[in-house]
Amino acid sequence: MTNPSDIQHEFEKLLKEKYGSNINIISASISPKSLLAKTKNAESDSPHSESNEPQNQAVLQFSKTPKDIKACLDKYVIGQDEAKKTLAIAVCNHYNQIRYYHQLPKEQKADYHYVKQNILMIGPTGVGKTYMIQQIAKMIDVPFVRADATKYSETGYAGGNVEDLVRDLVTKAQDNVAEAEFGIIYIDEADKLAASPSSRYKDISGRGVQLGLLKLLEETEIDLRSSQDPAAQMQTMFDLQGSGKTKPKVINTRHILFILSGSFSNLNEVIKERLAEKAIGFQAASPNRHGSKLDDAKRLIAQLRTEDLIEFGFEPEFIGRLPIRVACHNLSEDDLFQILKTAKGNIISQYKQALAAYDIKTKFHDSALREIARKAFKEQTGARSLATILDASLKDFFYELPSLGTTHLDVDGDLIIHPDKKLKELIDKENNITKPMQQSIESFQKKSFLDHRIQVNIDPDAYPFILSQVNGNVSEVEAFLSSYIKPFIYTIQLLTVRDDIGILSLPLECFQNPQKWFEMSLARYVKA
Ligand code: ADP
Repeated sequence: MTNPSDIQHEFEKLLKEKYGSNINIISASISPKSLLAKTKNAESDSPHSESNEPQNQAVLQFSKTPKDIKACLDKYVIGQDEAKKTLAIAVCNHYNQIRYYHQLPKEQKADYHYVKQNILMIGPTGVGKTYMIQQIAKMIDVPFVRADATKYSETGYAGGNVEDLVRDLVTKAQDNVAEAEFGIIYIDEADKLAASPSSRYKDISGRGVQLGLLKLLEETEIDLRSSQDPAAQMQTMFDLQGSGKTKPKVINTRHILFILSGSFSNLNEVIKERLAEKAIGFQAASPNRHGSKLDDAKRLIAQLRTEDLIEFGFEPEFIGRLPIRVACHNLSEDDLFQILKTAKGNIISQYKQALAAYDIKTKFHDSALREIARKAFKEQTGARSLATILDASLKDFFYELPSLGTTHLDVDGDLIIHPDKKLKELIDKENNITKPMQQSIESFQKKSFLDHRIQVNIDPDAYPFILSQVNGNVSEVEAFLSSYIKPFIYTIQLLTVRDDIGILSLPLECFQNPQKWFEMSLARYVKA
């Protein structure tokens, strides 16, 4: 057998001769062994290889109802009620039918007709289109791939080939073809594939991609080895050399759910023209702060006809394979506030986590969330600008706070409006008060142990209260604390022996009402 590096060298030479020296082949890491292992894995995973039965347990045991899906989406996605409902129904129907079909006896399968309900999503940027589908894929536990339609070209020569999307799904499923065959492919900016009416016959590229997608949307088998991929082609050469024959490794798109989405900003004009009406509202007027545009998406869907999408520039066969239409509305200022306040896993919780990793406890006040929502709404890029505004406001805090030793950060509206001023105040405070305060408290804690054999730990939440008791005079803190706990030393000694660690945490309440707090602690101790 020829040495693989000779083949690679030969191959590079061939391509360079054809395309010139600009071409650079990055395939040195491809070893015939690893690729063979990979394709072997794919082969044994494929439902079309041996058993002809799918092995995706998540799909075979699918038992969710549309209401389950909607309820789960409600936790993460604010607004978009109609979209969430339509998606929940469509996705449930899709996976339920697959499960049902695969449970049928063999003889009944032939008579079972199932037309896949691919989805077209329409709506402005940053309003949760991708996010909803991501959450759905996670919930159902199927692989998910997202790509921009603009990345692809008809032949795949200039851009990628649409078939690569299916191969990407296999990669996402860790080369498990059976898993990938039930996955979800989400294609954004699908509106860019439409030929504008004036250039309908010139705009070949978009039409070409539509035709390429046509096959995938329905049912076709895709070779896992792309004809555009030199490494895959080399592997085919090795296979041919080794065994004298090669069986194509394929993936079937029959059950893959396709979701195409885009902003379709001129679609309202098309509908308006057909209806010969003045305005239908969708994106026609700019949304107001309080979200009176919530019904616009619903109205758009109610008025949208397939002929409008054809007029918009889609091929009739193409649009016919996207029977489910979902519209998303613009997010109001209050929606943005609710995303920050209530949506599960939102960006605020991510920021809190990031600061907690530096041992900084962060509190975001509603005034901060309102201010962020107000600024983000002005940008008109939906929820996307929330991240930009938070980053602009908190970036310098991330830089300064970890080395300051700050343990608490209060984010309020004022901080979002004047982050620089707030940061300076915080640095001054840390340097002049917090650090000396911490030193006094540590010294007090040490002294208590030496003098009375008690170990106490004062909660930082109590620092401001303690400071207020000494009128902000840090040098008096230690003496104050000593006299403060004096009447309770015996109680503390009792309480600290109750466990092996022997450290008693003193929270804010202990300083606000010491008599009550020690009595309650003692009562709990006696009970235990
Ligand atoms: P698009 O509509 O352009 O696909 P995305 O879904 O990618 O926008 O939204 C970007 C990010 O903004 C999401 O990852 C999510 O964190 C947040 N987001 C957008 N819309 C919503 C929403 N309605 N509810 C909660 N979060 C949202």
